[in-house]
Amino acid sequence: MPLVTTTEMFKKAYDGGYAVGAFNVNNMEIVQGITEAAREQHAPLILQVSKGARAYANHTYLVKLVEAAVIECPDIPIALHLDHGPDFETCKSCIDGGFTSVMIDASSKPFKENIEITRKVVEYAHDHGVVVEAELGSLAGVEDEVNVSAEDSSYTRPEEVEEFVSKTGCDSLAIAIGTSHGAYKFTAAQCTRNEQGVLVPPPLRFDILEEVSHRLPGFPIVLHGSSSVPQEFVKMINENGGKMPDAVGIPEEQLRKAATLSVCKINIDSDLRLAMTGSIRKYFAEHPDHFDPRQYLTPARANIKAIVTHKLIDVLGCAGKA
Ligand SMILES: [Zn+2]
Repeated sequence: MPLVTTTEMFKKAYDGGYAVGAFNVNNMEIVQGITEAAREQHAPLILQVSKGARAYANHTYLVKLVEAAVIECPDIPIALHLDHGPDFETCKSCIDGGFTSVMIDASSKPFKENIEITRKVVEYAHDHGVVVEAELGSLAGVEDEVNVSAEDSSYTRPEEVEEFVSKTGCDSLAIAIGTSHGAYKFTAAQCTRNEQGVLVPPPLRFDILEEVSHRLPGFPIVLHGSSSVPQEFVKMINENGGKMPDAVGIPEEQLRKAATLSVCKINIDSDLRLAMTGSIRKYFAEHPDHFDPRQYLTPARANIKAIVTHKLIDVLGCAGKA
């Protein structure tokens, strides 16, 4: 099947009590690792591209890589989504250039301005058969060119969501309930430590999610910044020359719970980066004489596939739902 929008996959996810995984892609090995996992698990899939990924790999290369994945995975629905579109022009460029879904992130703007910008993108997107994700509230953390300090972050205000969705016509809404971008989601001061000395972050604000869902029945909600920062990969990085002390993510059982509620899309990027970097560091440490990129990218791709398989089955609950 050709690239699809997220409309049908979100409806099924909402009714089925699971979420679709949205994974960021930047190169061929990442695309392959993710799509091989989704194909084997028969899972619906969102491949997403940030502004930074377009700058790194070039729009055309990324679209053609995703089109290749669509040919290789004929039995699963795949959507191509712009992650954190910063303005109308970037969204338009992706809509004109083959994407089936875009995010307009005007969440740093005042409420009225966020509505105006989002409305403009929605009008253009819907005229072209493309769906739109918007955002209310802002997540802390760093992701490519999105950088929000903890002081500037803010939870979504549930009392704003009905007006926002009805005035913009957006198709899904990213909300801030305590997730965060990057591999250092929380400072040590925000966390407690478990027996192993690993940081345990504050719990997600499920009360806000429930209030939003109550006000927007049947409407798909999106969680950004939802990597769990698996300690096995942090350890692999640190044991092989890396230095990532106190990297911490969102516990997977909390994401699993969100997926059973109104959350239909969960964004995961840092976990794949950690899997890839850990694998390559380990390979280099064990084979200092090797210099063929295929040698060290093979285990990197395999570990991306393994972690995505785990997410599809154990966190998102979307395995077998394609
Ligand atoms: Zn994000």
